Amino acid sequence: MQTATVTGYSLKHVVCEHCTARFRYSVMRQAQGDHVGFAPPVVDLLTGGAFSKSGKAKAEAVAQGKLATALERAVDLVACPKCGKFQAHMIRAKRFKLFKIATLIALLSPWPTLMLTIMILPKGRAHEFAQLLQIELGVVAAIVALVALFLAFRFRPDVGRFFPFSSKHAGKGELDESDTKPQA
Ligand SMILES: [Zn+2]
Repeated sequence: MQTATVTGYSLKHVVCEHCTARFRYSVMRQAQGDHVGFAPPVVDLLTGGAFSKSGKAKAEAVAQGKLATALERAVDLVACPKCGKFQAHMIRAKRFKLFKIATLIALLSPWPTLMLTIMILPKGRAHEFAQLLQIELGVVAAIVALVALFLAFRFRPDVGRFFPFSSKHAGKGELDESDTKPQA
C-alpha cells in the first residue's frame, strides 16, 4: 500500500457581519491518501519501479482530492481585524467540532469498563451483562452529551471565553483594502 500526505493553503474572504469590513485569512490543512495496489517485486524489477511509482501517484491524487475538499470547507476562528469580533459561522464550526469530539469519546470510552465487566461477570450470565452494558452505554452517552452541551454554550470567543479552545488557536486576519480590485 502506498500512502501520501499533502499540505495546502487557501485564502478565505470574509465580509464581517458586525462592521461589514472585508478581510481575508489563510487556512492550512493536511490530507492523507492511500492506494492499495499489489506489486510483486518481480513486477517492479521488470518495469523499473514503474508500478510502485504509479501507486504513489495514485495515493497522491487521492490525498490532493481530500485536501481540496478540506480546504474548501475549512473555517478557522479569526477575529475581524477591524472590530475584533468573530463571525457566527466560525463559532458554529468550533461548536460542531466539540460535538464531533464528544461523539467519539462516547463511542470509545465504554470499552475499557466493558472488558472489565466481561472479566468480573461469571460465565453464562449474558442477560445481566447485556443489561449492565445498556445502562453503561446510556450513562456514558448522557454524561458526554451534557459536557459537550455545557462546553458549547460556554464557548463564546466574542466575550473572551475561548475554553475549551484557546485564544492561541484564533488566527489572524488581514483587511482587504482593495475591495474592487481583482484578487491576486
Ligand atoms: Zn468587523
